[in-house]
Amino acid sequence: MAATRDELKERLLRPLRRELADGAQDRVVAGGLEKLAQNLAGPFPEVRRLLEGYRDLSQEERLGRLHKVIALLGGQTLISATEAAPQDVFARRAKQPAQPAAAPQPKPETTPPPEGLTLDSSVESIALGLGGKKKMSELGIRTLRDLLHNYPRRYEDRRALVSIREVHEGEKATVVGKVLSKEMLKTPRKGITLVQVRLMDAWGWKFTAVWFNQPWVLKSIQEGSSVIISGKVQKRGSQISLLVEYFENEEGESLSTGRIVPVYPAKEGISQAFLRRSAWRGLEAFPLLPDPLEPYLQADGAPSLDLPPLRWSLQQAHFPDSEENLARALERLKFDEYVLLELKVMIQSGGSGLLGRMFRVEPEMIQKFRSSLPFQLTKAQERVLDEILADMQSEKQMARLVQGDVGSGKTAVAAAALYVATQNGAQGALMAPTEILAKQHYANLQKYLFPLGVTVDLLVGSMPAGEKREALDRLRSAHTDVVVGTHALIQEGVEFKDLGLAVIDEEHRFGVMQRRRLLKSRPDVLVMSATPIPRSLALTMYGDLEVSQIDELPPGRTPVKTKVLTHKLRHQAYAFARQEIQKGHQAFVVTPMIEEGESEVTAELQAATRLAEELQELLPDVRIDLLHGKMRAEEKDAVMERFRYRHFDLLVSTTVIEVGVDIPQATVMVIENAERFGLAQLHQLRGRVGRGGLEAYCVLIAGETSKKTMSRLRVIEESTDGFYIAEKDLELRGPGELRGVRQSGMPDLKLGDLASDAETIERARELAKRILESDPYLDHPKHALLKRELQARAEAIGFREVI
Ligand code: ADP
Ligand code: MG
Repeated sequence: MAATRDELKERLLRPLRRELADGAQDRVVAGGLEKLAQNLAGPFPEVRRLLEGYRDLSQEERLGRLHKVIALLGGQTLISATEAAPQDVFARRAKQPAQPAAAPQPKPETTPPPEGLTLDSSVESIALGLGGKKKMSELGIRTLRDLLHNYPRRYEDRRALVSIREVHEGEKATVVGKVLSKEMLKTPRKGITLVQVRLMDAWGWKFTAVWFNQPWVLKSIQEGSSVIISGKVQKRGSQISLLVEYFENEEGESLSTGRIVPVYPAKEGISQAFLRRSAWRGLEAFPLLPDPLEPYLQADGAPSLDLPPLRWSLQQAHFPDSEENLARALERLKFDEYVLLELKVMIQSGGSGLLGRMFRVEPEMIQKFRSSLPFQLTKAQERVLDEILADMQSEKQMARLVQGDVGSGKTAVAAAALYVATQNGAQGALMAPTEILAKQHYANLQKYLFPLGVTVDLLVGSMPAGEKREALDRLRSAHTDVVVGTHALIQEGVEFKDLGLAVIDEEHRFGVMQRRRLLKSRPDVLVMSATPIPRSLALTMYGDLEVSQIDELPPGRTPVKTKVLTHKLRHQAYAFARQEIQKGHQAFVVTPMIEEGESEVTAELQAATRLAEELQELLPDVRIDLLHGKMRAEEKDAVMERFRYRHFDLLVSTTVIEVGVDIPQATVMVIENAERFGLAQLHQLRGRVGRGGLEAYCVLIAGETSKKTMSRLRVIEESTDGFYIAEKDLELRGPGELRGVRQSGMPDLKLGDLASDAETIERARELAKRILESDPYLDHPKHALLKRELQARAEAIGFREVI
């Protein structure tokens, strides 16, 4: 488009004249004149050719080229009649004193950087301009490192600015315009304040920019000045308005126009131009920046990372030359964040290379275990078992988390690992959070392991003293191969002959110290959890554990039929529950904890009691009982036992239903005020029913029916994949809000996005492990930079408490 050519010409000429005035030192344009020509001189191949290799020319040669280029650009005339108008506009514009062709603009690029700077140097070591020091401290930027890692919040593509006439109704556009007039209006009825500014774009087209309820804008815009405005275009006949979303005063700097421009997180009174200038100077202070990951970027036998160098990435993150470069730069910087995060977690947990036990794994062992099973392991089970066995064979202590929905077959896999341990002459232990679960596991392990000649024993607190003593004796003398128990396993007086593998069910129920007691003899450790957590989140939350996921259910499971009902229709749910109970089945009704009220527990108890009473009136012929958080563990166990043996039909409960307890006849799960639960939690609750091969149902009652709530609950209605649901939960609510998951210390990453970074995290984790394997405390000189980086940035990178 010829009009654009003309504008481009103008935009090329300004910096060229400045360059001439500056003595052709190639300092006035960020990135150099050649780059400017590449970006802007598309329609002028001769100009591009003349400026090729500009940086490497002698000063004399440069001056020669500059004169030629300027003459070339000035000498070109516009041809067609339609283009006459824009030319006139520029002619007028050029004459105005506010737009001198070679205005004495601030030239950040001409300040040479002081000597001896490091990333730890104060940000004040570079020229910041008036008030810069205060502004930096307001933004929390102290060192040059902080400055370089103060990444833009977003970017504006200003490589080719458009005319307001070319933009269509409803589109978003970024335009430069000169301010003709400004005014503030108040709408009489609604009391809205409007700032309206009349502007003219470079082609001479007039338009109005509109701000709603931002009266302060009026003062920050000067008549006769140029502003860059982004917003939505509205066309009414020949009237064009722009509803402003973002604007800034054009300060005539190359950093703010003619490129992909960074937009930084800012505070009032701190201009984008200032932030860009500072970032530019920060980068300029380090023409070379040693790269902490340098030893790992090259392919030297080891897998290469295929990431760009740090200096380049920082440059491109602040002042990208193209979208592709920007994407690669951000990928590199994000990777660094995760590497530091993983290093921090691994070093602090001391778990990077602890020696454990080396088990011998023979194919015959696994074959024997497999052949004693009444079913075939699923592909997911086989994969996870392989991961576990690889850990057991290695000299390092295994610390692995196995995640999978209830019924996905975690216990079966753990049984295989326990079997391998016993075949190595070691003992195994499985620790569960409650007695009832311990007993359930005991029954299961008996089923898997007894036929293979493995002695399984039970140890729980409620056993009579004599029985317990005998169990302890058998354990000490290694008559017991595998013991299943509760906390009783980590009490005084419990001694193993040789504990080689500890399996811990539902890890979140155990405190760190408790776990350590069991682990003091450094057995391999396997943790099983039925809480589905997206892989990316699990990797960072359990930075000290390897994560395996069983993401597939054994064949033949019928998914729990799920329906969302509004509060008004809740009686339908209970009518349905009664039908099921009349068929001889059982039902759960869950009500959430109430968060307001005097004490949580009391309020919860009241809510649950009230609900039980209401249901008893509604369903007089149904036997109802209650389970709540105020009960002691034994009382809860007793209620669950009675439910299991069908002493009653319907259990009203707060969220304390024991996570892994099987009630085979339970086919209905009703959840009141379902919106108060996290999606992952709802999915887990739903897993309580349908454990006995019967068709099962879950009804979610929405106490509140906003669009957002309903669409969230529909996720549960539509999917039975725990990991998918957890991903959705993460997406919808963000990691800090995930319930049923430890919330403290969630990583606070600048660039990382846990919802989608699983692959990057895994690569970062691999590298962190590789580094620490050879150098556990980063003492090697080649890791000095990395160590410094970790020390300096560790506080900024959050992480969970580790075991
Ligand atoms: P989890 O511990 O993950 O809840 P379990 O290992 O207890 O799961 O398995 C749940 C049920 O499914 C058990 O009854 C078990 O016997 C059965 N099971 C486990 N793996 C398979 C499989 N691959 N095929 C069929 N049934 C299986
Ligand atoms: Mg289980």
